[in-house]
Amino acid sequence: MQQLQAAGQKVGFVPTMGALHQGHLSLIAQARQQTDVVVCSIFVNPTQFTDPKDLEKYPRPIEADIAKLEQAGCDVLFNPPVNEMYAGHENWHLNIGEIEHLLEGEFRPGHYQGVMQVVNKLFSIINPNLAFFGQKDYQQVMVIEQLINRLNLPVKLVMCPIEREPDGLAMSSRNIHLTADDRRHALVLSRALNKAKAEWQAGVPLLSIEQNAAELINLESGTRLEYFVLANGQTLHAATPDSQSIVALVAARVGNTRLIDNVIIR
Ligand code: AMP
Repeated sequence: MQQLQAAGQKVGFVPTMGALHQGHLSLIAQARQQTDVVVCSIFVNPTQFTDPKDLEKYPRPIEADIAKLEQAGCDVLFNPPVNEMYAGHENWHLNIGEIEHLLEGEFRPGHYQGVMQVVNKLFSIINPNLAFFGQKDYQQVMVIEQLINRLNLPVKLVMCPIEREPDGLAMSSRNIHLTADDRRHALVLSRALNKAKAEWQAGVPLLSIEQNAAELINLESGTRLEYFVLANGQTLHAATPDSQSIVALVAARVGNTRLIDNVIIR
């Protein structure tokens, strides 16, 4: 990669855990537009899973993924085995402040430490100029920004919009675990987010918006809400009416599958 960069070529990097869908492919399309050489990694990172069952059942359709990457015009695939990324038990911690403990951090303790470990390693192996991440994992984008800033990493993060199914469900590798019933119930998440945005535009108070959304989701059978919050888009603390940027973020279990989604409201 260093040789390519020395020759004036820009390297774009799209880290993934595989089971590729249109969301991942949209990141690759962005990378193709903005850089000269596109590297994608597929690595199901054990250190970011808080539930061993979730890790075990994570889909790994590598042949289909390779075909999709070839079709999408990805130049290089990095698909290392676990022991190439982790020599043994690693117990290092990067303190990026409270953002890692909010929202997802509260429900998945240690998750973002695992994310930072692997992304830091991937950045140092691949050495990209630009790295493409999805807004789908909004808090992850904020965490990686912190990682880049605190360690002065020579890479720029590009956040790409959420790709959705025609009925509004945010694309996710975990959607294949949804039964037909779950799949229907899961639509309540994007419905609640869109309603929240419309209510905000109509001047409904923030607290009422959150309560209405929670009520809507709790009424949907088979669905267990973990959080629905309107957060300040920079700090992820509760938004106030004069927050410059506001994001509605939701996490819920639908059947046995945990889903997250969000919408930028302001
Ligand atoms: P994952 O394989 O789930 O770790 O995701 C790899 C990258 O794809 C992350 O930056 C995600 O935010 C992004 N991504 C996942 N789902 C979507 C989606 N529906 N739209 C856009 N990006 C996504």
